[in-house]
Amino acid sequence: MPAVLVTGSSRGIGRAIAERFARDGYDVAVNYVSSAQKARAVAETIQQNTDSEAVAVRGDVGDPEEAADLVDATVEAFGDLSHVVNNAGVDQHVHTEDLSPEDFDSVMDTNVNGAFNVTKAALPHLKESDAAPTPSVTNVSSILAYTGAPVECHYAASKAGLLGLTKSHAGDFAPDIRVNAIAPGHIETDMTADRTDDEKRDEMANIPVERFGQPEDIADAAAYLRDAGFVTGETLNVNGGELMR
Ligand code: NAP
Repeated sequence: MPAVLVTGSSRGIGRAIAERFARDGYDVAVNYVSSAQKARAVAETIQQNTDSEAVAVRGDVGDPEEAADLVDATVEAFGDLSHVVNNAGVDQHVHTEDLSPEDFDSVMDTNVNGAFNVTKAALPHLKESDAAPTPSVTNVSSILAYTGAPVECHYAASKAGLLGLTKSHAGDFAPDIRVNAIAPGHIETDMTADRTDDEKRDEMANIPVERFGQPEDIADAAAYLRDAGFVTGETLNVNGGELMR
């Protein structure tokens, strides 16, 4: 069975992508950095409810050695690595005047360097895969890559950086491996759980479909990009129309 590595899949969007790939017939490496129990629970749920295998694997994607170990553990578990979803991400709300260079770097390390580290380590295995239509890498960016974000400049910069990485790698790895990005709008996960009611009301006013996104909305996009053999170097915007406003 072909295998996928979904970084940051102990919860939220990553969890939904891991479960979707498992339902679609892929073995899944469920990556986490600190939520060991949650990651194990995701792997167990997959094993119980699908015909796929799953393993929980710790690894900080921002650390090149840990990223390489994470890829090795995936290949060791399944004997294959056909798809990578670079989903692991961190967010932080701080005005630039209060933002330290260390905090700036730490968000960049996970969000951009993490995708680079994992993709680089995965590359030899993806090249060996005979996945149809092709092996793929999908990077989870954000609507904030386009709009910027006043209190999270480092997060917005990291997500814009991911779009450059996506197009560069799509050209680099063609025709053997497709590389795309997803740019979600507001998705209900731990990352957005701290919004006040006023903030949510203001944000909802800018979403034409009049609901926030669910992790499964992004899992649908990830499954589409995995299977879309004529799509590479693209960003799929999944935001309920928010980008139009
Ligand atoms: P979340 O609920 O906060 O989950 C984040 C995931 O990333 C967790 O599994 C976490 O693992 C993992 N992670 C964090 N740092 C890591 C590291 N250094 N190495 C490996 N794993 C790490 O976030 P989410 O809302 O599902 O977001 C998933 C992705 O979508 C992120 O890239 C985020 O920027 C992007 N996104 C989210 C939204 C949204 O509205 N929610 C919108 C646009 C884009 P632990 O559980 O072990 O901490």
